[in-house]
Amino acid sequence: MLSFVRRHKDDNLVPTLCDAPNLDPFGACRVCSVEVALEEGGPVKTMASCHTPVSEGQYIYTSTPSVQKLRKNIIELVLTDHPLDCLTCEVNGNCELQTVAAQVGIRDVRYPAGDNHLHKTKDLSHPYMTSDFSKCINCYRCVRACDEVQGEFVLSMAGRGFDAHIIKGLDQSFMESDCVSCGACSQACPTSAISDVFQSKAIQATETTRTVCTYCGVGCNLDVATNSGEILSITAPYDAEVNQGHTCLKGRFAFKFYDHPERLDSPMIKRNGEFEKVSWDEAYTYIADKFTHYKNTYGPDSMAGISSSRCTNEENYLMQKFFRAVLQTNNIDGCARVCHSPTALGMQRTFGTGAATNSIEDLKYTNCIMVIGANPTDAHPVTGAKLKQFAMKQDNVTIVIDPRRTEIARYADHHLALRPGTNVAVLNMMMYYIIDEGLVDESFIKNRTEGYEDFIKELMAIDIDKLEAVSGVPREQVKAAAIAYATAPNAMSFHGLGVTEHSQGTFTVMQIADLAMLTGNIGRRGVGVNPLRGQNNVQGSADMGVQPHQGAGYLDVTNPEINKRYNEFYGSELPLHIGYKIPEMFDAALDGKLKAIWIIGEDVVQTDPNTQKVIKALNATDLVIVQELFMTETAKQADVILPGSSFLEKSGTFTNGERRVQAVRQVVKPIEGTKPDGQIIVDIMNRMGYSQPDYTPDGMLEEISQIVPFFAGIKWERLGQNGLQWPVAPDGTDTQILHEQEFKRGLGYFEFHPWEETQEITQHGKDFPYILTTNRELEHYNCGAMTRRTANEQILKSDYLMINPADAESHLINDGDFVCIESPRGKVDVKARITDEVKPGILSTTFHFPDIMINNITGDVHDSEAMCPEYKVVAVRIRKSKGKFKSLLQDK
Ligand code: SF4
Repeated sequence: MLSFVRRHKDDNLVPTLCDAPNLDPFGACRVCSVEVALEEGGPVKTMASCHTPVSEGQYIYTSTPSVQKLRKNIIELVLTDHPLDCLTCEVNGNCELQTVAAQVGIRDVRYPAGDNHLHKTKDLSHPYMTSDFSKCINCYRCVRACDEVQGEFVLSMAGRGFDAHIIKGLDQSFMESDCVSCGACSQACPTSAISDVFQSKAIQATETTRTVCTYCGVGCNLDVATNSGEILSITAPYDAEVNQGHTCLKGRFAFKFYDHPERLDSPMIKRNGEFEKVSWDEAYTYIADKFTHYKNTYGPDSMAGISSSRCTNEENYLMQKFFRAVLQTNNIDGCARVCHSPTALGMQRTFGTGAATNSIEDLKYTNCIMVIGANPTDAHPVTGAKLKQFAMKQDNVTIVIDPRRTEIARYADHHLALRPGTNVAVLNMMMYYIIDEGLVDESFIKNRTEGYEDFIKELMAIDIDKLEAVSGVPREQVKAAAIAYATAPNAMSFHGLGVTEHSQGTFTVMQIADLAMLTGNIGRRGVGVNPLRGQNNVQGSADMGVQPHQGAGYLDVTNPEINKRYNEFYGSELPLHIGYKIPEMFDAALDGKLKAIWIIGEDVVQTDPNTQKVIKALNATDLVIVQELFMTETAKQADVILPGSSFLEKSGTFTNGERRVQAVRQVVKPIEGTKPDGQIIVDIMNRMGYSQPDYTPDGMLEEISQIVPFFAGIKWERLGQNGLQWPVAPDGTDTQILHEQEFKRGLGYFEFHPWEETQEITQHGKDFPYILTTNRELEHYNCGAMTRRTANEQILKSDYLMINPADAESHLINDGDFVCIESPRGKVDVKARITDEVKPGILSTTFHFPDIMINNITGDVHDSEAMCPEYKVVAVRIRKSKGKFKSLLQDK
C-alpha cells in the first residue's frame, strides 16, 4: 500500500521510519499506518501500509484525524527515549526522525520522563563505523540491511520489551565483530544511531556528484558529497541499477588516498640515481626526444606501453592510439594480460565475443549458479553479496568449484574442492556426466553450434579414474553438480581468476562456454557465461584496443582490410604484425630489444609474477616512464615519472563486467601539479607531431563511436545515470543479453581439451610439494597503492598465509608465526593464519603489501594461449621462519 500511495499520490503523504528503498517491508514502527475500508464510507481497519498488500476495491485513507493522532502518539513515545540534542546531533537537518516528527506535528511530548536508554556509550572502535545507541529507535533497518543487503548477519536485536537493543556479533564492538564495513547499516539508519566517521548523513555538503567506483569490475555508482572542493563522504544511490544503494568498504570509505600527502605532484626525471622535479614542458621534451630517437634508430617495436584499467575508456583508447598511430607499433598491452585475457580469448573462440553474456540483474531469473575460481564476497563484494543472497535461498541451487572453502562455498549445495590446476579435469568430468545422463539440449546443439561430433567423441573417452585422482574430487560429487546444473531450468555461471590464471586458463573458459551450450544455457535471461572482471575498467581497456593483437573494437590488426580502415581513420601507417604481450615485453627487454616502456597506473613490480625478473627487465630498458599516483615499486624503477590523476579528479567512462559503459564524472580538480592521464597522453601525442585535440570525455567518445562498432550509439549525453550496455546501436539502443538468436561468430564452437598437468608441478612438484595460490582480500585492491593509503590499512595490516591445521602442526607452526615460503624463484616470510578453509597441501595468500612481495616466488608458467601468468599454482615448500625476515617486518 505504501508503494502504491507513493506511486500514485505523493512520496511524502505517508510518513514512515522503518521503511527503506532497498529493504523488504517490515512493519516495525507503524508510523505508516493508514485506514482501509472495503467500501466507501464503510468500516475501517488501521493497517501498517508498508507491508499490507494493496488490492482492488480498497479505500485507503492516508490522513484521517485518527491516523494522524496515532502517528503523533507513536513519535511522542519514541521521543521519550531519545536524546533531544538535535542542534548538536551529526544528522541535524537530515534526520528522518526529526523530519517525521515535524511532519506529524510534534510540538511537545506529553509523557513524563521515565526509564530510558540515553546512557548508552558510543562505539568508536572502528576506523569507519560508529554507533551511538542512545539514538536508536529500534526500527530494525540496520539489522535488515546487514541481513538483506550484505547477508552478513552481524547486527541483531537482543533482549525483549524495554530491554530490546541492537547488538553487533556477540555483543561486541564494530571492530571486534565480523562486520565487513560495507556501511549498509549506516546508510539505512534513519538517525545517527549507526553512522560513519565521515558523517555521511550530515548536511555540510554543498554539492553531490554521481560517479563510478575505481576499484572493481562491479562498477558501483557513488554519490560523492563535496564542500568547497573537498570530498566529505560517499554514499550509494538507491536508484543505481548496478548497486541499488549498496557498496563495499572500498567504494564507500576508501577514498582518502586522493589527497594523501604521498601523492606524486610533479613530473620527475631520474638523474644520477635521484629523482629531480622538472616542469611538464621539460618532461614532455625529454620523452618526445627519446621516443623519436628510438623510433628512428631501433624501429617502432623497440618501444612498448602498458595501459591502465584504472584509467577511463577514453584514456585507454588514447594510449593505444599513441602507440599504434604515433609510434607505429602494436606493442600495447594492459592488466587483462595478468587476469582475464584467457576469458576474452576463450569466449571469442567459442562465441565470437569475449565479454559477459548477461547482466547481474539476471540473478532474479535464474535457478542455479555455478561459481568457479572466484571468491566474489572478497573480490567483487556487491555482486558477491547478491550471489550470497541467492545461495542462501532455499530452492536455489549453488555450485562452487574452488580449492578454498570460500564464504560462498559455505552456502553452496555442491562444493567441488579441487586441487589447484585441475579445473579442466573437473569440467570434463561434469560434461561427461551430462552427456552420459542424456541431459544435453539437443536442439540447441543442432541449431546453434558446430564441432559437437568431434567434441563428444573425445570427451567420452576421458579416463574418469585418472581425473578423479588428480583433481581430488570424488566422482559422485562431480556427477551430482553436473546433474544439478544441467537440470536447472536456467543456470548461470560466474568465473574469476581461479579459472584464468592457469596454464590451461583459456581452455577452461572454453569449457565453461561449452557447458552452457551443451545445456542450452545461453541467449536468454538468467543464463550465460559471466566473467567477474577484476579491476574497474579491465573490460573497457580491452574494448578500447589495449592488447597487441586487436585494435580498438577487437578488430584484428593483422587483417589488411582492417589495417586500411585504421590507417585512414588515424591518418598513419599502422603495423600489420602482432605486438608484444606483457611477458614478451619483459623478455624483449632482457634480450636488449626493448629500449623504452611507458607504464600507466600498473605496479608490475609488485603484481606481475617473478618480481626479480620484472625488475631486471625494467633495469635493462633505457627509458622507463611511469605515470602514477604514488611512488609504487614500479615507479621507483622509473627514469621519468608523470603524476596522473585519480578517478575523482577526471571525467570519462568505465565499462563494468556486464558491458555497462558508465559516466565517470569529475568530483574535484586534479591535485596541484598533476594532470588527467588522458591530457598527458594528448600532450605527448602533440609533442610528437600528431595532432590530437585536448582530452574531453564527450569529444573522445565521439571519436571512439566512429571506430569501435559496438560503441556506435554511445554519446556522453546519452549515458544518463545508469549507462548503456554494449553493443549500442546508432540510435542508442543497448543490449542486456548477448547471443540471443545467433552467436557473434555465427555458430557456437565446441572444442575438446584434455587436462594436462602444469609444468610448475611436473618440473618442481617433487622438491616443492605444497601448492600456493594467490588471491585478494576484501579490504585491499591489487597492489594496494590506494587502499593502503586509507584507513582500510587499519583493518587489514598485512598479507597472511592460510595454512591447514594439519600442515601447520607437522611444521610446528602456530597461528601468527612467520612462515618461510620457498619456491624455485626465491623465498618470502608471511604470517600464518591456521584455517581449514584450505585443504592439506594447499596454501593461499594475498599480494597487497610490498614488504612481503609475494610475487618474488611466483613463476613464469603462463596460459598456453593468452600468456596469462599461472598465479594459482606455485610449487613451494615451507618451514617455520628462522627470523631473518621476521625481524625486518617487526621493525616496521
Ligand atoms: Fe562496488 Fe567493487 Fe567498488 Fe566495492 S570495489 S564499491 S563492489 S565497484
